[in-house]
Amino acid sequence: MTDTTVATGTPDTSAPVTQERRVVTAIPGPKSQELHARRLEVVPVGVTAALPVYIERAHGAIVVDVDGNQFIDLGAGIGVTTIGHTNDAVVAAATTQLDSVIHTLFTITPYESYVRVAELLAAHTPGDFAKKTVLVNSGAEAVENGVKIARKYTGKNGVAVLDHAYHGRTNLTMAMNFKAAPYATGFGPLAGDVYRAPNSYPFHDGLSGSEAARRTISYLEKTVGADDLACLVVEPIQGEGGFVVPAEGYLPALQEWCTANGVVMIADEIQSGMARTGAYFASEHFGWVPDLVLSAKGIAGGLPLAGVTGRAEIMDAAQPGGLGGTFGGNPVACAAAVAVFEQIESQGLLAEGKRIESALVTGLRDLQAKYPVIGDVRGIGAMIAIELIVPGTHEPDAAAVTAVAAYAAQKGVLLLTAGTYGNVLRFLPSLAISDELIAEALGVIDEAFASL
Ligand SMILES: *Cc1c(COP(=O)(O)O)cnc(C)c1O
Repeated sequence: MTDTTVATGTPDTSAPVTQERRVVTAIPGPKSQELHARRLEVVPVGVTAALPVYIERAHGAIVVDVDGNQFIDLGAGIGVTTIGHTNDAVVAAATTQLDSVIHTLFTITPYESYVRVAELLAAHTPGDFAKKTVLVNSGAEAVENGVKIARKYTGKNGVAVLDHAYHGRTNLTMAMNFKAAPYATGFGPLAGDVYRAPNSYPFHDGLSGSEAARRTISYLEKTVGADDLACLVVEPIQGEGGFVVPAEGYLPALQEWCTANGVVMIADEIQSGMARTGAYFASEHFGWVPDLVLSAKGIAGGLPLAGVTGRAEIMDAAQPGGLGGTFGGNPVACAAAVAVFEQIESQGLLAEGKRIESALVTGLRDLQAKYPVIGDVRGIGAMIAIELIVPGTHEPDAAAVTAVAAYAAQKGVLLLTAGTYGNVLRFLPSLAISDELIAEALGVIDEAFASL
């Protein structure tokens, strides 16, 4: 498809968002540039913009900017609008809730939707045992609470994480990230008692799951020791690290070691969970039953909500008053989350994850055969990445990633980057994206590689 060019004018904001790509100005367009100039006066540089086009409307897999450009959204706000932008059921549930009650504070006067979200998380997280959930506002806050609960339950302090991990931007979580730059540079002192162990990264280490688990465990035993370790926090598929999928058997082997040694193992499913991978939670693909599961991003269709769900006896270790917060489990966000769960079930959205995986992986493997800069195609469901390398080596090629993403943006395809070395392109579309839009986006990405 060629880009259509029409005269710019006031976009018709009452019309439904058509599921099509449309580039009508240079990117960013004049109105976005004006807004960006205003932003630079009042928003600090620490808050960046990957693509400074200002979004006015969005639906399904398409975002529309203030200049009327329509982008195929392969990022979904970093895996948040998993069931589609402005999903009708989410909008209806949130709107109804706005009209009845917006806030009471669950720890003052509670309401049903919080309880319903906890029931749904208990039913859909891995493991057939009694579970409880605390709801909070953000992914980082879920990580913080998971660590608090694990520390109280075990009476120990140490927190273990893996190479290439990302867990957030609060004080504790910035100490848990693999990358200090930019997340922690100059923001110290960092939280102590955080230990980092090698992960399983088949493209680079070539290790089997059991070999990689032995390496991780041996490292943890030497650098901290299970006697001082409260928890091991692991993303089943690493998000910011570049959609690193661990080798078969790695995660259950770590869980087995944790269980045997009184260490709480926590799945950070903030990016990989909530139907993103063709299962409710990515841990299921690996036969991993974590002690605690962290949800956020996709859980409420775009509204801010996060949770810690896990074994009732661990969750109940925290004393009354020890968990909570003013906005945690807000009624509107909870109503939206209930709608998300209902949509996953009634619309068969787990199958959509598998459909998208097959379309993306097939298309990207074809590109890999044409362009040797694509070293690896990996991922599960609607969480697929390509790692770009200097051909014939495993050396990162971040410049190619930047060039491909910039080319795609100019053509109306919003593509996110990732990876410790910035050499990964991640495909994290909403489950509402059609095969046609995927094929069209891949066509643009093909052109982008050809232009390198
Ligand atoms: C995004 C993310 C977080 C942090 O979530 P916020 O809502 O941004 O605080 C933590 N862990 C993972 C795996 C994430 O992808």
